[in-house]
Amino acid sequence: MNFQKVAERLGITQERLEGLQETILKRASWPEPRLMRFEKAISGIESGTAIFESNEIVFGYPKIRRAMMLGPALKRHFRNRVVVEEKMNGYNIRLASVAGEVVALTRGGFICPFSTEVANRLIPNEVFEENPMIVLCGEIVGPENPYVPKGIYPTNDIDFYLFDLSKKNCRGTLGPNKTHQFAEDYGIKAAALFGEFRIKNAYEKIMGLVKQLGRRGREGVVIKDPDNERSPMKYTTSETNCHDLEIAFRYYNDYALDFFLSRAVREGFQSVEWAESAEDRLARARRLGESILLPLVETIQQKKNNEQIVQQVQIRVKSLQTAREFEYHLRRSGLRAIFDEPEPDDDGYIIRISRLIMSTNDKTQSLLEGSPW
Ligand code: ATP
Ligand code: MG
Repeated sequence: MNFQKVAERLGITQERLEGLQETILKRASWPEPRLMRFEKAISGIESGTAIFESNEIVFGYPKIRRAMMLGPALKRHFRNRVVVEEKMNGYNIRLASVAGEVVALTRGGFICPFSTEVANRLIPNEVFEENPMIVLCGEIVGPENPYVPKGIYPTNDIDFYLFDLSKKNCRGTLGPNKTHQFAEDYGIKAAALFGEFRIKNAYEKIMGLVKQLGRRGREGVVIKDPDNERSPMKYTTSETNCHDLEIAFRYYNDYALDFFLSRAVREGFQSVEWAESAEDRLARARRLGESILLPLVETIQQKKNNEQIVQQVQIRVKSLQTAREFEYHLRRSGLRAIFDEPEPDDDGYIIRISRLIMSTNDKTQSLLEGSPW
């Protein structure tokens, strides 16, 4: 790696870059191509930024702030107009061509072997042949998704939805207009574009969209500046907030406390902003309460029956090599999982995976045996 060149591209001094080695900048020598990744954000460089041996950089995908009180947040944050896109519920992946191979980088800046196989299957070759510097930022969604399995999208297995573009070695993204044009040009699926609205009408429109999306079990919206000069903002449906809580309470000791609190607080703000009727508010309270108590009770009951707390997921791979590599990738991410024997299907394999939810499992066992919290 040429430190001088890379530092220049990152916009920091060479000394600073060298000083970050092994503290913030971590080596990942597997799978090929090898890279260094920013484990934390510094000086405007997003965490997950990856530097390859070719001195090429794929910047991390920027964090998206959340509106809690949508109307005031829109007025305060944006200018005349906003573009509204669907927020897809899966996991973030950045695709780039490096050393002649298309690789999929996770949020943290690791190459994910499974996502790489999916991307190579779904993205036409011309995309990177004709745009060697392009980075496709998108969401991998669908029921056969090892991280966020959801059957709410029109796919039986897995799909990729583009939501942004950027370029290697360049900070920042190209924004919604270029992204949707690119998706159309190359026939790639993109996050649904609901339209462009004037700020003064935006709140009403978005609230209507969010209610509709909620009824369909979808996650919410990302609101963007058509000129890409203001950062995007996200807003989610009550159904998604509650569904997240349901999963988090099922595995209550494996989630950070803020995950629970922030979702409960969102429900409070939405209820006030929507000026709900007493009846609607009560329905929300029920939904929220059920998403907390029912999964908790199930987990405790399950452990009481001497069952392991596991999460079953299933993936489909073309090659067994991908499955083996994915197993290793999960392990290095600190996840414990048991892979069943691959089952041949069509021109590939189905693999069932049981993720062990260790902390919730052990905590529940000990609480049941009388340990104090
Ligand atoms: P963040 O720190 O970016 O808020 P998070 O891990 O809390 O990340 P989310 O709450 O899911 O994640 O919100 C941001 C993520 O939403 C993005 O990183 C991206 O993966 C995903 N996403 C889905 N649809 C879109 C879209 N249309 N535009 C931008 N991001 C989208
Ligand atoms: Mg998400």
